[in-house]
Amino acid sequence: MTQPIEVDTARVLADLTTLRHIGAFKSGVHRPTFSDAHIQSLDWLRRRMTEAGLAHETDGIGNVYGWSATPGPKLLAGSHLESQNEAGWLDGPLGVVYALEAARVLNGRSDVKGGVDVVAWCDEEGHFAPLLGSRSYIGGVTEEEIDSARDRTSGRSLREVLQATGLATTPRLLARPDRHVGYLEAHIEQGDTLERSGIDIGVVTAIVGIWQYEITFQGQQNHAGTTSMAARKDAGLALARFCVEIDDRFPVVAGARTVWTTGRIELEPGAPSIIPGAARMLFQVRDTDPEVVARLEAVLHDRAAVATARGPCSVAVKRLRVGKPAAMHQTIQDAVERASHLVGASTLAMPSGAGHDAQMLATVMPAGMLFVPSIGGISHQWTENTSDTDIATGARAFVNACALVLRGQSDI
Ligand SMILES: [Zn+2]
Repeated sequence: MTQPIEVDTARVLADLTTLRHIGAFKSGVHRPTFSDAHIQSLDWLRRRMTEAGLAHETDGIGNVYGWSATPGPKLLAGSHLESQNEAGWLDGPLGVVYALEAARVLNGRSDVKGGVDVVAWCDEEGHFAPLLGSRSYIGGVTEEEIDSARDRTSGRSLREVLQATGLATTPRLLARPDRHVGYLEAHIEQGDTLERSGIDIGVVTAIVGIWQYEITFQGQQNHAGTTSMAARKDAGLALARFCVEIDDRFPVVAGARTVWTTGRIELEPGAPSIIPGAARMLFQVRDTDPEVVARLEAVLHDRAAVATARGPCSVAVKRLRVGKPAAMHQTIQDAVERASHLVGASTLAMPSGAGHDAQMLATVMPAGMLFVPSIGGISHQWTENTSDTDIATGARAFVNACALVLRGQSDI
């Protein structure tokens, strides 16, 4: 393929703009899962699917699929339509609209083997549970989880919401590896790597895993006025020192894109006139390489042992969660790269620091992702944006990548 397939980028921008007005909030959207605005956006999608010749189907967790009637192998493509609260207009919809455009352009073309199925996964943003729809599709959601899931903002139960939306008795669909040769998802980068490097398209190599730790500090609770500085066993101070040690030592053994965050600190009892007797921090590491994280974990344990030996407080590190990085399939990465170059776009191979539905799909079929730049790297906020030019370039690269995957599907 030497000439790129033409894409109607004006239609892509018009569709995204329509979605931007459904649940508009300032220059972004407020479209939480199963809100009126979210349901309206799914209705819009079903109409668009019908116009595109796709047979739409909604499953029992709220995933909306558009099945292609084109004979031959199918590529599954999509993302999500709900948003974080008071968030951006492109996080999710970009991938759904690109997928729709790929179906409109490629399905039925004689020079493309097979067709594109479109999907909008429900609740990627985890209002009820993280990656709910795509996780359900790979068989990772139990009925018990649905029983206990509640909207984190309103407290409404998921069962009640499924009842209200008429999905309570609709079956949940499971992945069909016999139908799909792979999954491709486009997304805004949500960071500033592409913008800073002046690159048009990110070829996602892997989605990071998230490791979580609880680090506890044991000292002696005492009076803040009568206890001399020398006699204190201040667990809060021990915690602060530990944070500084992490920041000093992690860069030496971390990978180029490892990130770490102390997301929560608790002091006991946490009163102005009491020396904290205990302290606790929730600590998170994200990386695509478990070996890098193993090195960082060794640093944590080593520094905890040293601090405990030195005193006056003891330090304990407990791992709460093991990360599961998801590698993107090499053939799909190659297709995204080649398609981008075909449409004159520059590319950068990069990991995703954020979670995406593609990480679920990667466990059951070859999966890949394409990123477009985010202005100022801002996301999960209503000012999130991408230039029209970058959106158009991304659409052309995405549709052509879908064509390449379908043409070369025997290699996957
Ligand atoms: Zn997203």
